[in-house]
Amino acid sequence: MINNKGMLVVVSGPAGVGKGTLCRALFAQWSGLEYSISVTTRSPRPGEREGEQYYFRTREEFSKMIDNNEFLEWAEFCGNFYGTPKFHVENVLNRKKIILLEIDIQGAEQVKEQYPEGVFIFIVPPSLKTLAKRLYGRGTETEDIIRRRLAIAARELDNVKDYDYVVENDEINLAVEKLKSIIIAEKCSVKRKSFFLKEE
Ligand code: 5GP
Repeated sequence: MINNKGMLVVVSGPAGVGKGTLCRALFAQWSGLEYSISVTTRSPRPGEREGEQYYFRTREEFSKMIDNNEFLEWAEFCGNFYGTPKFHVENVLNRKKIILLEIDIQGAEQVKEQYPEGVFIFIVPPSLKTLAKRLYGRGTETEDIIRRRLAIAARELDNVKDYDYVVENDEINLAVEKLKSIIIAEKCSVKRKSFFLKEE
């Protein structure tokens, strides 16, 4: 069952740890990956565009999507909703391609229940101090939101034990190399390869 499908890769970890930057850098280098664009109720940040970083929806629209069972997972984070549309993920897996989800920890837990054979990668900051610096440096959130995000991050670091891999985001190029290596190794993993043994 696992082996006749593509591969689902989840990149998660505390917000502000640089998951988005790492995944964007990975995509720039590797066209074979497909990316899951999430739906969110938060407002676009400067430079963000509909259908590129996110699909931006109202709370009502988001609730409707939940009712229609359109999400593989969804979560509330800092007062906003975020969700992964199911359709695209299933489509990519059926085409035996690699789909990458960059989502928060609550969402990753839900995905693991449905796709235990997925590859779960946890991104950690070199330290909480670095994370605070990054969040303040980004300058896109209010002080109150940054404090809430940092408190959540401190608790979330404990979740690393539920993942297959951990990558420290200290130096971006090195972290991207590690992500690439993990995915390549998983592609070669014998447990994913048994379809070669089947008769054509
Ligand atoms: P941001 O508002 O900074 O873009 O994202 C906030 C958090 O939501 C990040 O940790 C990001 O990884 C996470 N996130 C983005 N899309 C999704 C999604 O579809 N589902 C879940 N559960 N989290 C998401």
